[in-house]
Amino acid sequence: MLSYSSIADKINKVKSGELSLAENVKEYIARIHENKKLNAFNSIFEDESLKEAEKIDAKIKSGKHGKLAGAVIAVKDVLSIKNKPTTCSSKILKDFTALYTATAVQKLIDEDAIIIGKTNCDEFAMGSSNENSAFGNVLNPADNERVPGGSSGGSAAAVAADLCDAALGTDTGGSVRQPAAFCGVFGLKPSYGRVSRYGLTAFASSFDCIGTLTKNAEDAALILEVISGKDKCDSTSYETPVPEYSKNLNFEKKFKIGLPKECFGEGLSEEIKKAVDSLVKELSSKGFEIVDITLPHSEYTIATYYILTTAEASSNLARYDGAKYGYRSGKSSTLIDMYKSSRSEGFGTEVKRRIMLGTYVLSAGYYDAYYLKAQKVRRLIKNDFDKAFEKVDLILTPTAPTTAFKIGEKSDDPLEMYLSDIYTTSANLAGIPGISFPYSKDSNGLPIGLQFLSKQFDELSLLQMSSFIQKTHLK
Ligand code: GLN
Repeated sequence: MLSYSSIADKINKVKSGELSLAENVKEYIARIHENKKLNAFNSIFEDESLKEAEKIDAKIKSGKHGKLAGAVIAVKDVLSIKNKPTTCSSKILKDFTALYTATAVQKLIDEDAIIIGKTNCDEFAMGSSNENSAFGNVLNPADNERVPGGSSGGSAAAVAADLCDAALGTDTGGSVRQPAAFCGVFGLKPSYGRVSRYGLTAFASSFDCIGTLTKNAEDAALILEVISGKDKCDSTSYETPVPEYSKNLNFEKKFKIGLPKECFGEGLSEEIKKAVDSLVKELSSKGFEIVDITLPHSEYTIATYYILTTAEASSNLARYDGAKYGYRSGKSSTLIDMYKSSRSEGFGTEVKRRIMLGTYVLSAGYYDAYYLKAQKVRRLIKNDFDKAFEKVDLILTPTAPTTAFKIGEKSDDPLEMYLSDIYTTSANLAGIPGISFPYSKDSNGLPIGLQFLSKQFDELSLLQMSSFIQKTHLK
């Protein structure tokens, strides 16, 4: 079925009559059903996808089609699509139907992509294993006893198991990159403000980014250029011009690549460390300069991230009170009781933990010691990157300290779980982009993903380097 190597190639094959889009969508739907046990989807749009496929098939043949014509894309269930459920994998929004469509999704539709369904994730995108979903966990297609990573676990699993061409995920602290690494696909987190957040359910608004999960760097480039850009509905989106990433993947430049010494210490799996060493050798033999660098405040990233994101989450999630929309408990006699019981019954354990942590760090008496201090450390972390990027073009790190872990292995130990974000959260603290690309497998046959980080709005270098590695190493 997948007789095409990229979305661009797929369009060409539809054009030449080698591939029927309707057949392609039917096959994807069949594959989604065959792989039900992965639990990657919260909802599937079968009839509409088929109808769209027929329409777009005709458009392609007539030569008047969008850039993503016929690309079958799954969307994480924290992004709104008008008249479709947006559950955030939470009981509190189980029956909620969106009133408008997220800008990023609308842009995909405007370029003739087919939205096949909405993917499972950790509740409100809080988690690293997809075990925090109210609709059950997602299985890693590479090993069904293991987690797919999180929080965009359904999106990563759907792409890895060939249930769609690509997926949108969201990355507040690593939720696109870490599941991409665990499932063996490409995960791109753009700069903060590159892609409009309009229609994305807010978790931590100064961190949240919509990103892509794809089978190759070309598709990431193509989707990113479609979804990026200023949006009047999101005042934090930037005017910075959007390059044609997909047309500029080939390059001559010998990038200077920095290796932060802080990223190779305690807790990192030996096999992942070896994978980095091997890539470093490969790249230096190809003429890239590898430089040792330092990010001195790295040890504070997890603490800073979990103080600031829980603070923002505690405020953002105040809107789910059972009054205006979402789950309402039937057990209450007073308004206050109704708020309390709706929230107690509607939210899962991890979400409640974060609301409590966030409320604590913002409370009078603790605000200066935690929230304010963490804001200052966030600036120091950003300064570390600014300094590093004076010397290098890209920074190479592991994406996660381990490969996919077993289901249940870390679910009773939140701190241990939080540590799986050790290499990814810094990009969100600094607002810079990052990509996770599949590089090799460990001795259990599990995917190993590595990460490049670059300067704000330099997504192009990330895409160029990962495309280069894809062509020279993965083939
Ligand atoms: N795993 C991180 C967390 O639990 C990141 C989540 C995300 O990026 N949405 O907060």
